[in-house]
Parts: sequence; structure tokens; C-alpha cells
Amino acid sequence: MTRYCVKCGILETEETPLINGYCPKCYLEYKGVFKKTPLLEVILCSKCGSLRFKGKWVYTRSLEDALVRILEADYKRFVNDEVDNLIVDNITNIHRINKNYYEAYAEVNASLQSKTYVKGKYAVRFRVVKTVCPNCLKKTGKSFNAIVQVRSERGYLTEDEINHVYNILMEPGISEDIVEISENKNGIDVKTMSPVIAKRIASIITRDKGAKIIESFKLRKYDPSTGRRLGIITISVRLPAINIGDVLLYKGVPGVVREYSGSRIILEKFDGEIIRVKMDEYWSGALVRPHVVLEKEYVVLGYDNTTIYLLDEATGEIKEYPRQINLYSLREGDRVRSYRIGDKMYIVRIEGGD
Ligand SMILES: [Zn+2]
Ligand SMILES: [Zn+2]
Repeated sequence: MTRYCVKCGILETEETPLINGYCPKCYLEYKGVFKKTPLLEVILCSKCGSLRFKGKWVYTRSLEDALVRILEADYKRFVNDEVDNLIVDNITNIHRINKNYYEAYAEVNASLQSKTYVKGKYAVRFRVVKTVCPNCLKKTGKSFNAIVQVRSERGYLTEDEINHVYNILMEPGISEDIVEISENKNGIDVKTMSPVIAKRIASIITRDKGAKIIESFKLRKYDPSTGRRLGIITISVRLPAINIGDVLLYKGVPGVVREYSGSRIILEKFDGEIIRVKMDEYWSGALVRPHVVLEKEYVVLGYDNTTIYLLDEATGEIKEYPRQINLYSLREGDRVRSYRIGDKMYIVRIEGGD
């Protein structure tokens, strides 16, 4: 089949394959490798210069070298769909653009649908977070009096959650007090000299992420002359495992999580009503995760006054569903998801991108 570039009209050949209708030259000109400017976070040890990379602390020659590794590991979030591999040849011209962010140029080689490579030079932005790596902390030999254990209901922390914790640990007033940071498969343990700092770390995480805190105290020494109890305070900080799009029951009524922050969860009930639930209520059990038996996606084929017709694209099956008030806004082509909770079936529109 003979095909031509939609922009310049050049004939497709083996040397000039078309990528979604574009020749490589026009692809670069009209679409480009990146769909948005890469925004990276570089976590460095302020003492030895090592880089936190994929959960480990590794030696790195320079900031340029660190950026190459981070961009190559994390490019997928920033590139157009056709890019299936990215090699960074060079990082140049690092300069500060504001208080927190730097910019540099990345010379990249991108593979497009495994058919061809294109080269380009693009701006990337990044932030540098300075902290102290576990090795360097050990050398300081300070003794600790408190431990903050950051965990999640998931059983592990996401990369975003880990970065968030490191951001807090490097804050002035906190970083100087830290004796040791260690990561394990369940989360992060932070040892501090002062229990007050440990409590501050825990409360910042709670404010931002809606965590639940449990404190315990282990006595090491009791001084009868002063009546002082010396020991180690352990603060367990448990992050909620809430995702946008989760179905939760609030006081027995199901809804979809549309947004959440450290203080509240925004739930869209299946009848379309939006409710705000305090994070405390999540932890007190007012929100529960129902057993969702069935979860299927349909496309709206059409509707009349009483019925909505849904198409299961995978099987071709057509399903009829009562057209309740909350479904009046559904139009042909909209996508919905069905849930079965207990003996009831619910239809919910899917928001773009979730
Ligand atoms: Zn072209
Ligand atoms: Zn270090």
C-alpha cells in the first residue's frame, strides 16, 4: 500500500516510515518527542553527593550524569505515545530559572514505534532535593530518641510518597536532627535525636496525606532521683491507600473517589451528588471498601425515556439499564463502568483519563 506523509506528502519508504501518518521529519516538527516539558526531581546526599535512584543510593559523577539516568528511567510520563525508547546523549546548559527550579537541555535519541530513530534537543526542568544518605548519617554517630515509621495501608510506599517524605526530611529545622534514614520494603524508618522533631515529621505527613498516627513509648531507663523516664518514642505513620476512581461506601452508600487531600475525600455518589468526607471518618470506619463483584466497561449506544442501551465492546453484548435521574446527562459514545455491590448494580460514568 502506498502512503504519504499527511504534512509534506513525501512517499513512505523503508528509510522514511510513517509514524501515525507523519514522516520522521514532520513528526519532530509537528508532534515532537515530548508532550510536556519533563519535570524531574533529583535527590542528592549533601555530604557525599550520591544520588537516590530507583530506591537505592548510587554514586554519580555529576549533576548532568544524574539527570541522564533519571530522565532515561522516567521518560514515559513525558513523551508522546509513539515514543517507545529514549536515550539521552547529553545534558547541557544547566541554569536556574527560579527559587526552586533549574532548566537544562537534553539531547535525546527517541525510537518511534520501533521503526525509526529521531534526534532532538529539548528543555527539561528539575528540582534538587538535598538530604543525607544512610551511609553518611551512620558516620555522624548521633544517638536517637525517637523513630518515625512511615507505612501505608497498601503494604508499601509509592515512589511519590517516598519523595514526599524525603522532601519533609530535608526541611530546615528537621534535617539537622535526623540520625538515620532507612528504607525497607514496607516503608521508611527515620530516627531522630529529638522526639519533638519526630512528632513534627509525623504531623506534616498527616497534614499532607491524611495519615493515621499511633505513638508508643519504650522505657530504657528510669531515673528514680529525678523521676524521669528515658526511652524511645516510636511514631507509626500510616498512609491511606486511596486512589482516584476507587469505589467506597459512605454510610452504606457507594461513591467514586474523585479527589482527595490530607483533610478530606471528595466522593461522587452514584446518583451524582458530591459529598466531602473528612479523613478522620475514613479512619474511624465510616468509609469502607465494598466487595465489588463485577466491574465492566460499556459504551452508551443510545437511550429513550426509560432505558439506556449499553454496548460491551469486548463481547458485542447489549445491555439495557433503567435511565435514572443521575444518568440523564449520559450521551451516545460516553463510557460507563458497572459495579455490582451486594445484590445491586450501579452504572457510573468514567471521567476522562481515569
Ligand atoms: Zn513529512
Ligand atoms: Zn552520603
